[in-house]
Amino acid sequence: MAKNGSEIGINTRLAHSGNNPHDYFGFVNPPVVHASTVLYRNAASMAARSQKYTYGTRGTPTTDALGQAIDELEGSAGTIMVPSGLAAVTIPLLGFVSAGDHLLIVDSVYHPTRNFADTMLKRLGVDVEYYDPHIGAGIASLIRPNTSVVFTESPASNTFEVQDIPAIAKAAHAAGAIVMMDNTWATPLYFRALDFGVDISIHAATKYPAGHSDVLLGTVSANERCWPKLFEAFNTLGCCAGPDDVYQVLRGLRTMGLRLDHHQRSALDVASWLEQQPGVAQVLHPALPSHPDHALWKRDFSGSSGVFSVVLAGGGQKQQHAFLDALTIFGLGYSWGGYESLAVPVFLGDRVVAKGPYAGPVIRLQIGLEDVADLKADIARGLAAAAAA
Ligand SMILES: *Cc1c(COP(=O)(O)O)cnc(C)c1O
Repeated sequence: MAKNGSEIGINTRLAHSGNNPHDYFGFVNPPVVHASTVLYRNAASMAARSQKYTYGTRGTPTTDALGQAIDELEGSAGTIMVPSGLAAVTIPLLGFVSAGDHLLIVDSVYHPTRNFADTMLKRLGVDVEYYDPHIGAGIASLIRPNTSVVFTESPASNTFEVQDIPAIAKAAHAAGAIVMMDNTWATPLYFRALDFGVDISIHAATKYPAGHSDVLLGTVSANERCWPKLFEAFNTLGCCAGPDDVYQVLRGLRTMGLRLDHHQRSALDVASWLEQQPGVAQVLHPALPSHPDHALWKRDFSGSSGVFSVVLAGGGQKQQHAFLDALTIFGLGYSWGGYESLAVPVFLGDRVVAKGPYAGPVIRLQIGLEDVADLKADIARGLAAAAAA
């Protein structure tokens, strides 16, 4: 359905992409296929593997439905579904870097990505280097003949620097390297990574696509050039996602446009209000005009999601903990993208370049679907507690 994807609205696309109900008796939603074995008609078809589905790990009508929906959103040639957002980072890296390669990773990357690179990839003989999120075209000076992948994430985890993805992609491609992007924050609704030169777009579908803090899933989408190698890595590693989780994410996609729009508006409301509050030094949200990368964000992104950080005006861990402990609506917990608001302390001690200085402790907020007035009142309790600590 919805073949002419570019000409219809995003919510129409989210409602109708993926499966065609008439392929399965008209039921609106696709079947959840639980499968390992797929039977063949005869020995000849088995020998030739000449049928659409061959084994559970290699795809089912359920994974196809989500994969096709994501391909439509991303403009990609193919999408794999893996058991977590972290697996959506590690599997393409394992597929595309080899011993002796040089790998460039943005310094403000999601921490577990850095941990994977610093432990397993280094053990496998990959030379890992971290670069400044603001490097832009300057990445050319870091690229070596053996640089195979430039890994990006924009906006940055926790500190929300915006990367100049087109400039990075241009320099990487000129040197024969490919570009991967962890695009979880914006989702393909607010940033179509492949349109900006990214070869492989990565999502923790655990976040907004799933939307309810009850599913772990990752998706990785590639352009024509990188799809065969990505699919080969996926099949080689056998790291496929379970059918119920895939189904739940497809279900989540149907309402993702509405949810994101609400997250966006509430987060901007809270963020601009926070900028005026005593005890706040800075709000790190790229859609705020005060953000140093606002112009870049505006040039490339078509929206903003519900996660940003606030920097307290002075203090340390004591004030940070007082703020967090005073919250009654915001939960203290990792991840984001669900319907409920969350707060976490930000740690920047692992970074080599993008580590501030900031005027005080940094706290990341995920603005959920609750009423904004209640969230502001909760944050005001946190600020008062931090000021009193
Ligand atoms: C949460 C997150 C991930 C990992 O997702 P999980 O499903 O929790 O493993 C990867 N990248 C970013 C930017 C994330 O925020």
